[in-house]
This record gives sequence, C-alpha cells and structure tokens, in this order.
Amino acid sequence: MSGLTLLLLLAVPPATVGVELPPVPPPADAVVLFDGQNADAWRRSSRDEAAGWEVADGELRTNGSGSIDTRQAFRDFQLHLQFAVGTQSGGNSGIYLLGRYEIQILNSYGKRPGKGECGAIYQHTAPPVNASLEAGRWQTFDIIFRAPRFDAAGKQTEPARISVIHNGVWLHHEVPVAEGTGSAKGRALVPEGPIQLQDHGAPVRFRNIWVRPLAEN
Ligand code: MG
Repeated sequence: MSGLTLLLLLAVPPATVGVELPPVPPPADAVVLFDGQNADAWRRSSRDEAAGWEVADGELRTNGSGSIDTRQAFRDFQLHLQFAVGTQSGGNSGIYLLGRYEIQILNSYGKRPGKGECGAIYQHTAPPVNASLEAGRWQTFDIIFRAPRFDAAGKQTEPARISVIHNGVWLHHEVPVAEGTGSAKGRALVPEGPIQLQDHGAPVRFRNIWVRPLAEN
C-alpha cells in the first residue's frame, strides 16, 4: 500500500465506508412479497382492502395512505428487502414483524447508534454500530425472526428472537423480545402474523422484498 493510498483511506470518515449492496434475487424457497410489478401480496393494515401505496419504477412507495400488511401470515422466517429513505420527516418508517416488533427505518446516516435509530429493535435494543447509508441510497435488511412460543393456555413460554443484518453488517443476534415494541407495545402477542411496512408519513421506497419461511426449531 502506498503512502498516498493510506492517506486517502485515513481521510475517509468511517460513516462513509458502507456500500450499496447489489440486489439479492429470491432463492428457490422464498415467497416473493414484491418483485417490482404490483402490491398484490399486501393489504391495508388490519383491513381487507388493497394496499394503497404507489407502485412505480419497480418500487413500492409510501404515500401517506397508511401502513400495509402482508396478506399471508408468517411464523419463523428470513425477511430480505431493500429500502431507501428520504430526508423529509426523517425518512421514518419501520418493519413490524408479526405486526408487533418494529425494526426501525430512519434516515440515521452518520448518527450515533441508538434505540430510535435505523436498525434498532425500536426502543428495545440499539444496534452496536450505525450501518446506515446516506438518504437516497439503497440499503438492505436481512431479518431472521423466530416467533414467540405459547403453551396450551396461551401463556408465552419463549419470547420472539430477532436477528438483523443491515447492509451486510450484523446488528442483532437472536435478541429475545418478550413484548411488542413501538406503537405495538402492550398489544396481545401472536404465534404468527403478517409483516407490516409502516407508513409514518415520510417518503420511503422499497424493492426486492422476499421472505423464506423457516422450519420450526
Ligand atoms: Mg419508525
């Protein structure tokens, strides 16, 4: 390595190291939730109505019409998606696993990691590092989720467990989450449920969304 290369590397602030990863095509066992064509896999949250989000240029975009849920319910799974936040309203959105546990989406580029920043299990566990890219760039989440378990009486015997990889950076490893987070705090827990994308009034774009149901273990 030349002295000039070293100088250039040292001159790059850590926050700009992250790279925009290429799209990961859905593997053979995936359920495709959005392939750029339509939002048929989604409905308005808690309603039997078509999702109101805009589909354009291969993207699924918030437009102030409210959050959306997958029509299908899931239990244990890997979720993969790409998202791009804007700067308006902080780029606030989120992914609610089973409609109960929020992985925060926010324009957090360059900020200190926190329980409210992008990649956090919202207001529950902060990521150890901030892996966010700048607003406007495509970012990825890979979320591995294990649903809570219940006994015959409906009492939770094992909490949900959440792992998150953000832009290729591992943030959370099987973090136990015993109750709903964010706006779902206090909601009754469920053994399976939809994946919800939050419309928090901020422009956020999604693409390449797929989920792989995992064998129970
Ligand atoms: Mg949010």
